[in-house]
Amino acid sequence: MRAKHVAERPPRRIPAGARAAVWILVAQFAMLTWLFHVDDGAQDRSRAQARASVALAGWHPGEDRSPVAAELLVLAESGVSNADQLRERTTQWTESGSTSDTAALREATDAAGRSTAAELRSNDRIFPVLLVLVLVAVSGGWYVWSRRVRETQRVTVERRVLDAGERRLLALVRNSTDVVAIIEPDSTTTFVTPAVAVLGWSPEELTGRQLLDVVSPQDRLILTRLLSGSGDSHSVQIRMRHRDGHELVMEGTLVNLCHDTAVRGWVLTIRDITERKRLQEDLTTQAIHDSMTGLPNRQLFFDRLDHALSRREAQPWRPLAVLAFNLDDFKDVNESLGYATGDTVLLTVAERLTEALRDEDTAARLGGDEFAVLMEDTDLSTATQVAHRLLATVASPIEIDGHLHVVRASIGLAEAVPGRSNGTDTMRNAAVAVDMAKERGKGRLAIYDPAWHRQAVETFAVRQELEIAIATDQLTLVYLPIVSLDTHTVRGFEALVRWEHPERGLLNPEAFIPVAEQGGMITALDDWVLHAAVRGCAALQAADHRPWIAVNVSAEQLNQPGFAAIVLSTLAAAQLPADRLVLEVTESALLDELGLGAQTLAQLRAHGVRVSIDDFGTGYSSLSRLSRLPVDELKVDRSFIEQLRSGNEDGVLVSTFLATAQALRLRTVAEGVEDAHQARWLHDAGCDLGQGFLWSRPVGLDTARALPRILAVPVEEDATVSA
Ligand code: C2E
Ligand code: CA
Ligand code: CA
Repeated sequence: MRAKHVAERPPRRIPAGARAAVWILVAQFAMLTWLFHVDDGAQDRSRAQARASVALAGWHPGEDRSPVAAELLVLAESGVSNADQLRERTTQWTESGSTSDTAALREATDAAGRSTAAELRSNDRIFPVLLVLVLVAVSGGWYVWSRRVRETQRVTVERRVLDAGERRLLALVRNSTDVVAIIEPDSTTTFVTPAVAVLGWSPEELTGRQLLDVVSPQDRLILTRLLSGSGDSHSVQIRMRHRDGHELVMEGTLVNLCHDTAVRGWVLTIRDITERKRLQEDLTTQAIHDSMTGLPNRQLFFDRLDHALSRREAQPWRPLAVLAFNLDDFKDVNESLGYATGDTVLLTVAERLTEALRDEDTAARLGGDEFAVLMEDTDLSTATQVAHRLLATVASPIEIDGHLHVVRASIGLAEAVPGRSNGTDTMRNAAVAVDMAKERGKGRLAIYDPAWHRQAVETFAVRQELEIAIATDQLTLVYLPIVSLDTHTVRGFEALVRWEHPERGLLNPEAFIPVAEQGGMITALDDWVLHAAVRGCAALQAADHRPWIAVNVSAEQLNQPGFAAIVLSTLAAAQLPADRLVLEVTESALLDELGLGAQTLAQLRAHGVRVSIDDFGTGYSSLSRLSRLPVDELKVDRSFIEQLRSGNEDGVLVSTFLATAQALRLRTVAEGVEDAHQARWLHDAGCDLGQGFLWSRPVGLDTARALPRILAVPVEEDATVSA
């Protein structure tokens, strides 16, 4: 299929139809000529016989015999059947001069006449038959000819169409941007289109050469295998070398036309996809890598993790560890040193991580200052070592613009349990562990403990239930009397919340207050308590006895905008004077002296509400700070009062607290007074009030209302209460 051959027109030939027509015409004429010629002889003989008979009949003895003899000889010469006999008798008749021979001659002449007549008759019979035969033959000939002509026309038209198609095809092939080549099984190029210029070659240069010479060495074997194989067609992607040495990626098809006589080879149609491929790779890299550090991103990390886990389904003995890696206080780095420095820190950390790990480990940046490490075939103790190494590596100072910065990280380590945990679970465990590491003081490693998960699940369940509990009044209050240490008169009550859980029974606050705080429901809970306590206190009021109610207020509730208004409207709704309410706040809730909480308390105090500082001594407050706090009362924590039990009277701290409070004119309450000895000691030390099991356990509202005004002896425990 070299271009030259295809372009040549076939030599002009006389069409077969025309040749057949000429042959038929010639045959037709020959037959008719023969027919007429055959009849001509018989006619001549018949005429000669008539003339001879007339001459003989008109002859009379004695007359000259030669004219008659001449006619008779003409008859003989005309080719009658008894010509010899006629000639012989005519000679005899001429020479003898006798009349007796005349009869014999007449006889011979008649015989000639009879045979000629017979011949003519037979001709008359045969001619029409012959004519019909000739006509049939000629008609057949013409029929065949016309068919040949039509066939020839069809072939001619077809060929013309084919010629045009082939030329068009060739033009297309030659002008296509795809490289089209015919190569023999041994890779010899027998034809190639000009598009091969993409490889720096011209068709002339490449034709006759081994195509393998321009294929990159890595792909030669593949191509050789395909060419020597017996397949029909293959999709191919091969790397080829440009004449100047750079590599191109070509993609296309290889079609086996070795059995096609017009081709006799493999047709390779390929195009340059180098740029597309590069772009694709770039996009893929971008899509699965973090643009800043170049580390795998979250998607790639989880992809690898999932793959590693699925491999372990068949090989569950192969360990797999995951690290969640988080920089400590990175926000501060960004905010105080700027984002450029932050970026440098992240880059450095990424580099250090990569350096410190094996090639087969995956370090990824999940986002922000969150990194993760996947370590296959690494057991817990090895992973722990690696994690400690990473902590040390990352903590070594980083120099940025001549300044040294120290950045620490917290690491959470989790082991995957093949077949039981998926990638998301494993990573979540590591994240829980890293949170734990931060909680335990940062810059350290925490190894995930499955018990945490159970706890988390429990907490979640409790949160759900608590939500319902608040909405459906499963909460209740118990009241703990607050007693004057001097007279043992009941002066007030502390409201303490309980949860009447439908399945677990009565629950103490430790079982759900921390959950409520974590789950963001503490405000809702405390609002409920505030309303119930204020209503309860109103119910406890009598003409001659007006106890106050102490309500525990969480930091969240205190800092909730509009809290002062809620408190005041609650008091108003229950018609309880503001001075009957004591809000117990912890020291930590008062840390921010200028915050919303402090303002709220100041506002409420102005309305007469009292504020008590709860659990005093356990928090951050120093005694010197006490003077600046917006409080009216100080509650010494139970842990200090416990130390005052008989035989163990280390009351230095309590004395100091009480003395300071007295100097600041703060009312003092001792928490958790359990025996008379403590009560006496506290009274002697100048403490104003006490609360504790010495006088009463926390009791329900009705019991509280029925309590005597003066509690000299411990009252009986309320059956519904477990303290
Ligand atoms: P708290 O404010 O220090 O409350 C006093 C706790 O000590 C109460 O425990 C009370 O039952 C217990 N107690 C009182 N006297 C004695 C005693 O003589 N000996 C012993 N061993 N314990 C005594 P409770 O009711 O379990 O409350 C525990 C904590 O839960 C409270 O400590 C308070 O911080 C919190 N809490 C209770 N109710 C509420 C509430 O409505 N809202 C908020 N935010 N917290 C509450
Ligand atoms: Ca309290
Ligand atoms: Ca307390």
